[in-house]
Amino acid sequence: MGSPRTALAELLAGNRRFVSGQPIHGHDVTAAAAAASGDQQPYAVLLGCIDSRVPLEAIFDQTFGSICVIRTGGHVLDRAVLGSIEYVVGELGVPLVMVLGHERCGAVASAVETLRGGRSPGGALAHLVDRIAPAVTEVGVDDPAVHPLAVRRHVLRTVAALRADDLFAAQVAAGRLAVVGALYDLATGEVTLLEP
Ligand SMILES: [Zn+2]
Repeated sequence: MGSPRTALAELLAGNRRFVSGQPIHGHDVTAAAAAASGDQQPYAVLLGCIDSRVPLEAIFDQTFGSICVIRTGGHVLDRAVLGSIEYVVGELGVPLVMVLGHERCGAVASAVETLRGGRSPGGALAHLVDRIAPAVTEVGVDDPAVHPLAVRRHVLRTVAALRADDLFAAQVAAGRLAVVGALYDLATGEVTLLEP
């Protein structure tokens, strides 16, 4: 398996192909599926939002078998998600974990609304709001830029939680695993890395 640096460079190169309108994996899905029908050897695992405007394989111009993708509302990390990432890192030896947020995230907006005193969503959606709320509170619910700032804060909090995971911390310290946060721009398609 390659290094975290190589994996990140490969992902970002795919995003540049996507942004430039020159994807190399855009259409040949049947051949890609056939080529990847043996063992899987992905080089990255991505945690993103369910938002229909942010399909991760497409925006990184990735083919079948190259990345593992996990999507939850507001890219909330729960035990099922964490277990999935642990599987990919521990069993498949993937060196890179990326958490990708995006602007105008509906789940983050729900958390802001709830904290501003609106009705709390019922059911399991309340769980998503609860997991995003600390990021909103850190930014300040009355900040005029609370939406974009809370998205960033929520990404960075998720990155920090993953870096501190029992199974990942030593690998991160040794440089064998990188956990990075990034933002997707809905208008341009560009992915920008966030520095913690
Ligand atoms: Zn979202």
